[in-house]
Amino acid sequence: MFSPLIKELIESLRCLPGVGPKSAQKMALYLLEREHQGADRLANSLREALDKVGRCSSCRTLTEETECSLCQSSDRDPKKLCIVETPADVIAIESAGTFDGRYFVLLGHLSPIDGIGPEELGLDRLEQLVLHNSVEEAIIATNSTIEGEATCHYIAELLKKLNINVSRIAHGVPMGGELEYVDGNTLALALEGRKTL
Ligand code: ZN
Repeated sequence: MFSPLIKELIESLRCLPGVGPKSAQKMALYLLEREHQGADRLANSLREALDKVGRCSSCRTLTEETECSLCQSSDRDPKKLCIVETPADVIAIESAGTFDGRYFVLLGHLSPIDGIGPEELGLDRLEQLVLHNSVEEAIIATNSTIEGEATCHYIAELLKKLNINVSRIAHGVPMGGELEYVDGNTLALALEGRKTL
């Protein structure tokens, strides 16, 4: 019933998290019927972001610069490194406002079923970064999910071999909890209450 181009638009919207066939259809029709300007902006910004956004050469977070602003900042202590799963986790910890070190963003967690191993998470890069910046303390802030815990364990073993202090945020982050949804105060406490691994 829909023409091929509309069908394709509906289908492509379904790659978004939580968007089923009904909402994809609603969004597509809304954009075409009533929101031409917004749709144009969406199409342009998506194209531009896809073309230009890559990974920070140092911490692997998403950025259109070679090195992200946090890695470029001289106010941040390069000897403290906080390891997180996603760029959203960086924002969450930054909102707590108590961490003055740098980050390493895994962009995922270990998941053998999905073919995500140490290489996909850039763990060789993490090792190099630790050595290059003479990191003294690593705080592992992966999510408190099963995958997050397994990833934490793997990274802890890896980093302990480099003779640095490795700790895990624990206090206040609920089991099964994703960092992104934890409020700033709780995260500040979690950082403060980190446990040595
Ligand atoms: Zn960076």
